[in-house]
Amino acid sequence: MSVATPKADPLGKAIGAAFDVEAVRAEFPGLHQEVHGRPLVYLDNAATTQKPRAVIRAVERFYLRDTSNIHRGVHALAERATALYEGARRTVARFIGSPSPDQVVFTRGTTESINLAARSFVRPRLAPGDEVVVTWMEHHANIVPWQIVCGEAKAAVRPVAIDDRGALDLSALEEALDRGGERVRMVALGHVSNALGTVNPVREVVAMAHARGVPVLVDGAQAVPHMPVDVTELGCDFYAFSSHKAFGPGGVGVLWGRAEHLAGMPPMLGGGDMIRSVSFEGTTFADPPSRFEAGTPNIEGAAGFAAALDFLSGLDREAVAVHEEALLAHASEELARIPGVRLVGTAPERAAIVSFTVEGIHPHDVGTILDGRGVAIRAGHHCAQPVMQRFGLPATARASFALYNTHGEVEALAAAVRHAQEVFGV
Ligand code: PMP
Repeated sequence: MSVATPKADPLGKAIGAAFDVEAVRAEFPGLHQEVHGRPLVYLDNAATTQKPRAVIRAVERFYLRDTSNIHRGVHALAERATALYEGARRTVARFIGSPSPDQVVFTRGTTESINLAARSFVRPRLAPGDEVVVTWMEHHANIVPWQIVCGEAKAAVRPVAIDDRGALDLSALEEALDRGGERVRMVALGHVSNALGTVNPVREVVAMAHARGVPVLVDGAQAVPHMPVDVTELGCDFYAFSSHKAFGPGGVGVLWGRAEHLAGMPPMLGGGDMIRSVSFEGTTFADPPSRFEAGTPNIEGAAGFAAALDFLSGLDREAVAVHEEALLAHASEELARIPGVRLVGTAPERAAIVSFTVEGIHPHDVGTILDGRGVAIRAGHHCAQPVMQRFGLPATARASFALYNTHGEVEALAAAVRHAQEVFGV
């Protein structure tokens, strides 16, 4: 996505025919409410998204009709629940271009997905002195799991530099890979930064890492809601994402992995549903993906997740991208025009996430005053403290857009920021 060359005019007039934002908004009941007596302007989509009716209906239908546990059931409801759960796996596989549904492991979300790859794939390969390469812009979910397993193995997490715009320094990555050589066991990076909006050049990173025999895990939590993702095209080894950030229910996510990697991985959790046979003499584990799904999974969440992905697939994704690109360009322009506002994260390739500071006002105060005007943003370190350190900031305010946001909402955001400045007299 290019910020510099929006394909639609800034007020989105050119989009109408291809993408009817009002029709999309009508599908999201949560958007149509007042907060503190004002219409809600929901710009906290990087934290979690509102849910379309199709998702709410899918979860409700499970509770109304299909409530049962999966697998091994011999009655009709158990068969329905199993069909929903395994059908959801096939929907995810199609959505991300997975060669097989068996490469889709359901987890509780991105965090658990990355922990699973760290614990079961990387940990057994780590020796003292080994390295896991990440970037300075990672979410804590893509730092701490690596620190834990590296700590156990006396290995190290090596962060790669980003530039002043918040773009990944590819030459620094190359240097880290060359310096680390065979000690580098994994490159783990975000597809889209939740703190800066930066879209990372995953294909280039994969090519660079694979040329040296190093596998790549991509944290796709912020990419899946914004852009079509094809794991085969990306060429990565693992891809992690969450349902709730992509219009689906909470408590469910995915670790996608290459079949040969998953086949060799030990389970992270033991229990029901992940075994082939159990005896006190010895237990054998099921094949992937069941091997990694111990216990009763989030069946209703998976059903809702599939409904969310079907909802997204039913939209013109190209038109959605154009709409979001126009929102990003419009928000960047409106905010940059306000004296005292500084945009943090100006990489040329960005998703519709805008981090900013307002001179003389703490981001938390910006967030509180905006809330009073019905504008929901997030303020803080965004679970990415190293990136805040990189920019010498304790926190930023962050407006993160989704496909249902409008240009009127961008204007409401800018007006609320100006109002905050008036309140603080800055
Ligand atoms: N990675 C990124 C880039 C994120 O934005 C988030 C959520 N803020 C996560 C990982 C963690 O996702 P979850 O909380 O759904 O596990």
